[in-house]
Amino acid sequence: MRILLITALFLALVSCGSSPEDNVLRLQGKTMGTFWHVTLLDVEKNLDKNKIQKQIKEQLVKINQQFSTYLVDSEVSQFNAVHDTQPFAVSDAVVDVVNAAQLLSRQTQGAFDITVGPLVDLWGFGSAIKFETPSELSIQQAKVNTGYKFLTTQAQPARLVKKNPLLRIDLSAIAKGYAVDQVAMLIEQQQIKNYLVEIGGELKAKGHNPKAETWKVAIEKPEDNGLNNRSKVAQHILEIDDKAVATSGDYRNYFEENGVRYSHMIDPKTGKPITHNLASVTVLHQSAMVADGLATAIMVMGEEKGLSFANQYNLQIVMLVRKGDSFRSVSTLKPSVSRKQLKPPKTE
Ligand code: ADP
Ligand code: MG
Repeated sequence: MRILLITALFLALVSCGSSPEDNVLRLQGKTMGTFWHVTLLDVEKNLDKNKIQKQIKEQLVKINQQFSTYLVDSEVSQFNAVHDTQPFAVSDAVVDVVNAAQLLSRQTQGAFDITVGPLVDLWGFGSAIKFETPSELSIQQAKVNTGYKFLTTQAQPARLVKKNPLLRIDLSAIAKGYAVDQVAMLIEQQQIKNYLVEIGGELKAKGHNPKAETWKVAIEKPEDNGLNNRSKVAQHILEIDDKAVATSGDYRNYFEENGVRYSHMIDPKTGKPITHNLASVTVLHQSAMVADGLATAIMVMGEEKGLSFANQYNLQIVMLVRKGDSFRSVSTLKPSVSRKQLKPPKTE
């Protein structure tokens, strides 16, 4: 019996404070099947709240119209629907994000791969939820139409080109981070120096929080013995200034079968969901888009490969690894970044 469990957001903001709120502006809304939250500080008295809310909303609608795999008329969906190898016109933003994804694919030797869509669907993590484990034959058949090397880009004018006419792309693992960067840019254009932008758990923070302290972000311990039995315990508290934080976890969207946990992340080499004991990967990076993509990539790579990759590229990461009923932290962070570590990091 397969159980599909979708657990809630586990990155939490701590100490958002209740001190002087008169120059704090909190905005929120829905996008990409999740919620967005923006906190702005030290805003001018005459800042038009409705105007900035509208600008953020429009920016997110635009990004959805470019990247969504749910909207049939988005640029990505249209590219996916066309089964030929002619260059396909897209906006510059799509080429930029695809280029970032392709770089990550090369750096991770294909662990990160935006062409895994057919496998995501086959395993029932796409738009249609299925309840059967696919046959080896159907996995091999789906794999034939995947592979980031089948995809190239062109600039000026911006084009995507598929070498396999049945290739399609899925930017879910990186698009939320891109959206965070875009909203942060919009805020910076208003000369706001202290802010936090969060979309579905991926975030960017700059300056100070409403308590006039550095922003603090908790990585929660993923207690997931059923949806109603989650206690929120901070495993790490990170201090963030002018940085993005993204987390990828196997406990937000997965199913269990015969005691094996299948995550919604696919190992492109095997064509199967990852089943290792890495519970989550959190990445700190200047770019939310890169942090988002890296978190997924390292999650796919697993503990050992992921850690050596992080060391090779000098990345700031925290991994939570399942150890029986609890978790072990593996971190490359310096103590100044991770203010409080409830368990000492192991890096063996
Ligand atoms: P979430 O969307 O839950 O925040 P991620 O950012 O880790 O999590 O993205 C997971 C999504 O990425 C999956 O739902 C799937 O669409 C896609 N995906 C799955 N495997 C891979 C992979 N190996 N490389 C790139 N994208 C992947
Ligand atoms: Mg991701």
